[in-house]
Amino acid sequence: MEQAIQVGLGERSYPIIIGAEVMGRVGSDLRARGLAKRYGIISDDRVAGLYGDRLRQVFRQSGLACDLITFPQGEASKNLRTIAALASTLAERGFDRKDALVALGGGVTGDITGFLASVYMRGIPFVQVPTSLLAQVDSSVGGKTGVDIPQGKNLIGTFYQPRAVYIDSGVLQTLPRDEFLGGMAEVIKYGASIDADFFAWLAENRDAILALDSSCIIPMIRRCCEMKAAVVEQDEREGGLRRILNFGHTIGHAVEAASGYTLIHGFAVAIGMRAVAELAVRCGVAGPEVALAIKRLLEAYGLPTSIPDDFDRQSLRTYLQTDKKTVGGRVFFVLPEQLGRVRITDQVADVDVDAVLGNVFS
Ligand code: NAD
Repeated sequence: MEQAIQVGLGERSYPIIIGAEVMGRVGSDLRARGLAKRYGIISDDRVAGLYGDRLRQVFRQSGLACDLITFPQGEASKNLRTIAALASTLAERGFDRKDALVALGGGVTGDITGFLASVYMRGIPFVQVPTSLLAQVDSSVGGKTGVDIPQGKNLIGTFYQPRAVYIDSGVLQTLPRDEFLGGMAEVIKYGASIDADFFAWLAENRDAILALDSSCIIPMIRRCCEMKAAVVEQDEREGGLRRILNFGHTIGHAVEAASGYTLIHGFAVAIGMRAVAELAVRCGVAGPEVALAIKRLLEAYGLPTSIPDDFDRQSLRTYLQTDKKTVGGRVFFVLPEQLGRVRITDQVADVDVDAVLGNVFS
């Protein structure tokens, strides 16, 4: 079972191909497209150990030259030092403007590779082969690239679209369980903020999804990519609409930062979605049944829904105020109105935010 959708961005449009054995056809596909004469596969050391040889083999079988270039796994590598080191390696090995990069890995690898591709020799093509659920349903599509600096996450970056995205659902078998569940928080985000039917489908198919049954996993990834593509097509540079994808992320980022980035991103987003749903109820924007449904689905997938008791509430507030998505000092929240429909607003009273950050919900 293989499925393809298109991200429609005029001459920068690209396909997303999803299936259980997609990695095996990346080489022949790129050869048919004639994208480059040589490929630099960029991967973290963990994913490279699992899939590097396989992808190299796939390229070689298609008669394509490739190098595998790795960096240490984890968010700590997402910085300008890694970009400089990878660029030096590419230059030493003679990569030029006729060559292309392949991001083989999770969101960290995708963000690093996309950024590197956008600046190396003033821009060379790249493709995404995402291997974490988060990267498959979210970060590999849409063209946001970037690295972190000590002052904040993703503060240096570009908008730079890949030429294709190849999603092999089979690689999820080796993804650590918590990383999979963290990715499910992003999946639930799409249902809660954009598509109520999908939200209900996620509840109905929970067991099959948690068992990685490909008859559910592939349509699930496809639906998420369709929604991401539709939003990106309308608002590539996050002028407005794309901000709905930040549902749960405003408070989620603050929770993540206050944890010293020890909490998995998706777990922080799950807490953020629950908190913002409670905020919507307090503000009279949504009925209590909306917050309850979101909490229940998150819990059905084993995700946390409360801010841990030992969190410093004051630092949470500070992080919320300094989130880079504040505009003119105002914090914008994406509040659910109903399942599948959200409202973006900065008209939220501090007292309500404080109550939610104080975990006044049970
Ligand atoms: P990650 O890339 O660090 O991957 C998580 C862990 O899983 C890593 O240890 C990785 O080695 C491992 N891994 C990945 N695939 C695996 C597999 N198939 N089998 C075994 N292990 C595997 O992190 P992530 O959660 O994928 O992505 C988080 C990053 O994505 C953050 O830096 C975030 O800022 C970024 N992000 C970007 C966008 C965007 O639009 N560009 C959107 C959301 C998040």
